[in-house]
Amino acid sequence: MVEFMRIQDVRVLTISCPALDLGEEWGEFWCCSPTRLYEAPHSSNPSMVTAKLIEVSTDTGIRGYGEAGDSGMGPRIVTNLKPLVIGEDPYDVERLWDKMLRGSIRYGRKGGAIEAISGIEIALWDILGKDLSKPVYQLIGGRTKERIRVYASALYARKPGELKKLAAEAERYLEEGFTAMKQRFGYGPGDGVKGAERNVELVKNVRDVVGYDVELMADAFMGWNLQYALKMVGKLERYELNWLEEPFMPDDVESYVRLSASTTIPISAGEDEYTRYGFKDLIEKRAVAIVQPDCTRVGGISEAKKVAAIASLYGIPCIPHIYGGVVGLAANLSLIASTLNCPIAEYNTLPNPLRDNLVAHPIKAVKGYIEPPSTPGIGVELDGKMVERYLVKDEMD
Ligand SMILES: [Mg+2]
Repeated sequence: MVEFMRIQDVRVLTISCPALDLGEEWGEFWCCSPTRLYEAPHSSNPSMVTAKLIEVSTDTGIRGYGEAGDSGMGPRIVTNLKPLVIGEDPYDVERLWDKMLRGSIRYGRKGGAIEAISGIEIALWDILGKDLSKPVYQLIGGRTKERIRVYASALYARKPGELKKLAAEAERYLEEGFTAMKQRFGYGPGDGVKGAERNVELVKNVRDVVGYDVELMADAFMGWNLQYALKMVGKLERYELNWLEEPFMPDDVESYVRLSASTTIPISAGEDEYTRYGFKDLIEKRAVAIVQPDCTRVGGISEAKKVAAIASLYGIPCIPHIYGGVVGLAANLSLIASTLNCPIAEYNTLPNPLRDNLVAHPIKAVKGYIEPPSTPGIGVELDGKMVERYLVKDEMD
């Protein structure tokens, strides 16, 4: 006789704390951004770090935790979704996901609503893992790799006079044992020929430090247009980037198609795309060589798994976006551990007090690798005292 569990409550826990003062070693840094066309560059040094956690509780006392992207998804969306899952069995992941997609269709499909669904879906997997005393990756395909290779992700743009700081940062990652790293472009179409030259200088600066045995990637964070990107790839090909990330806005699929057809540099995108429907054109039109869904945005672990499966039909690797996350990091690692065409994980090397202090056992890269989380559930045990301390009370649902 199958016993059914019931979902009793869904809450948003917005956790926010001041970022660390990174000091002189880091200095001021920035990157391209979607609004860069209209604004002067501004510092990317964070002043606060925030996580939107989702707590799903059940009638057996098991609580699952998920994370809902970082778009600023508000508790109102979760209030809307809550009646769709209360009283349901958390094991019914597939049906509950579809129910939430249909229930949010008028304001959903992309963005905050899908991020909220992502957070709830991840929390369901956490509940199942805890109920079965198994890490989530064992429930969704098992181990495809003993440990997960990670790439160091930061290397933001610096002022021309401060390129030594960028070189020193790359040097640190080499010393820490990373064999792959990703940097950020700082300039776009509005910065003219000089800016384009400075973008090349940024890449050259890092490549000169790390050599050609290290995999190097560079991220334009939606700050370019097609004409600019076509010029840039001509100047960048000699540096043998492993991929050039997200040059355009997500709906600009035809620019991705043109650029991919025009350069030997693999083009990647997907961190700002939602659900498998959103990835359809990117994959089918060969717009990108690598897809980068994030479990906390794309619709959760099973939706990311579906995107990876579709990508595998076209020989396209899935290398998830992982940046600010606390629970999200563990969710993406569960996906990567259990999925054949996920070869490597992103590892944000900016100091992050939430990631390091909010959980009992922080997930850390050691010599360029991470062990998949092995405790039951998603693999994150929140530190109750820290949650209490940094909880944004008036945003509680
Ligand atoms: Mg990116």
